[in-house]
Amino acid sequence: MNILDRLRNYFRPQLTCADANAFIVDYLEKELDQDTNASFEAHVGKCAVCARFLDQYSTTIDLCKSEGKIAAPPELVESTLDFLRDRGIGRD
Ligand SMILES: [Zn+2]
Repeated sequence: MNILDRLRNYFRPQLTCADANAFIVDYLEKELDQDTNASFEAHVGKCAVCARFLDQYSTTIDLCKSEGKIAAPPELVESTLDFLRDRGIGRD
């Protein structure tokens, strides 16, 4: 790491846990800009809570992707459709 990168890291604003949680999806989708990405990784490197959350979150995403389509329970489908119908959204 060169001196400019070290200085950038030193003066980079520190993320809070709430900030890190807000960025987690974009981080995993690789959609953060370079500075935000570095701030996110710096926070996760120091914060055990966010590191664990990131690990669980990415494991869950991987599981969902590897399982392909997951069938929703019929009760959930019905209650969701009822919810949408009650609000005038949908085909009926
Ligand atoms: Zn944190």
